[in-house]
Amino acid sequence: MEAALDQATSTCSHCDRAIPIANVDLHNAHCSRNLQKCKVCGDMVPKKNAEDHYLTTHAPVSCSLCSETIDRDIIDIHKGENCPKRIVTCDFCEFPLPAVDLAEHQEVCGNRTELCHLCNKYVRLRERYTHEARCNGIQDSAVGSSRNVREAERDEGVQRRRPQNEFSTKRLLFSIAITGIAVILGSIFLQRKADPSEMH
Ligand SMILES: [Zn+2]
Ligand SMILES: [Zn+2]
Ligand SMILES: [Zn+2]
Ligand SMILES: [Zn+2]
Ligand SMILES: [Zn+2]
Repeated sequence: MEAALDQATSTCSHCDRAIPIANVDLHNAHCSRNLQKCKVCGDMVPKKNAEDHYLTTHAPVSCSLCSETIDRDIIDIHKGENCPKRIVTCDFCEFPLPAVDLAEHQEVCGNRTELCHLCNKYVRLRERYTHEARCNGIQDSAVGSSRNVREAERDEGVQRRRPQNEFSTKRLLFSIAITGIAVILGSIFLQRKADPSEMH
């Protein structure tokens, strides 16, 4: 009879646990005075620790990067993927910077150009990958024309020099001719001078 009473239990109205009937009064006094049911997880926690329990287990947390209050469940996702202050790297220069500044930075950074060694054309960094996939190594008309301009300028230079060369060659031939004529004329004069003296 005593054993059966020991086995019998009663549910505590405070914590919903089965309490041996023999201990119910004592338990109820203790349970209602010291324990509190957590409204979030349903755990019985000591009343004096209830606030700590909530703060350390359930309360939203402040993001250490952006100081925003974030639900505890998603703080890791927030810091890794969503936080505006998380550090990301620029696609173009790989400089680390806060995510919130990335778009503005890449707008500028992606507009920088780099020489494609295949086609010898300056390509925007933002277009580099699509360019490299398409680049056939042939210099396109835009670059070809600027190259042709340079070649044309070079040719023009040659053409400009050529007449000068011809001119100086002509001058040289002309001065040789003059000298030759002078020599011939001189020898004629000498002959004419010499002839009469020989005649005499
Ligand atoms: Zn209880
Ligand atoms: Zn809880
Ligand atoms: Zn944040
Ligand atoms: Zn950059
Ligand atoms: Zn190219």
